[in-house]
Amino acid sequence: MKFICIGRNYAEHIAELQHAPPSEPVFFMKPESAITRCNRPFFIPDFSKEVHYETEVIVKINRLGRSIQERFAHRYYDEIGLGVDFTARDLQRKCIQEGEPWEIAKAFDGSAVVGSFFPKEELPDAQDLHFHLLLNGQKVQCGHTRDMLFSIDKIIAYVSRFVMLKMGDIIFTGTPVGVGAVHINDHLQGFLEERKAFDFKVK
Ligand code: MG
Repeated sequence: MKFICIGRNYAEHIAELQHAPPSEPVFFMKPESAITRCNRPFFIPDFSKEVHYETEVIVKINRLGRSIQERFAHRYYDEIGLGVDFTARDLQRKCIQEGEPWEIAKAFDGSAVVGSFFPKEELPDAQDLHFHLLLNGQKVQCGHTRDMLFSIDKIIAYVSRFVMLKMGDIIFTGTPVGVGAVHINDHLQGFLEERKAFDFKVK
């Protein structure tokens, strides 16, 4: 499996990082080895001094597809969850400045926290979902999927023009405003429509 991650999908987050809004979805990938699951701790890597949390709605692909039409994209996932796209912001800034790929900042071991998934039919419409992150009990990120620049179906259609989607692939759909650094012993809890999707410590 692979992780496909969308960058710059919420206007206020784009503004906080002082980027320009994209005209097409921006995506990058993480390998399977990036996964952190089952509320295991996240370990801050030694190569970064500024690792940020990015809370994101995640979608699990349930069948093989390429060049999927947007109107059929909803058939390619039946579970929605919440995860964290951990990002070595200091390294990412350097990559962007130097015009280099983002992998060292995004694809490192443990950087893709996968929380619980919930069946689509138990949730409101995919573009009508609230989610939030508590950092040490304080709400630091709060998003709504209606604010995505590119909807989940649009993302699936766009990405599958370039990369075949396979069963078990997970799409991270972008983070809202409020990203910030994590520190040792931080406690992160994520909620999707008030359902707890992850609960873990930073080590
Ligand atoms: Mg992200």
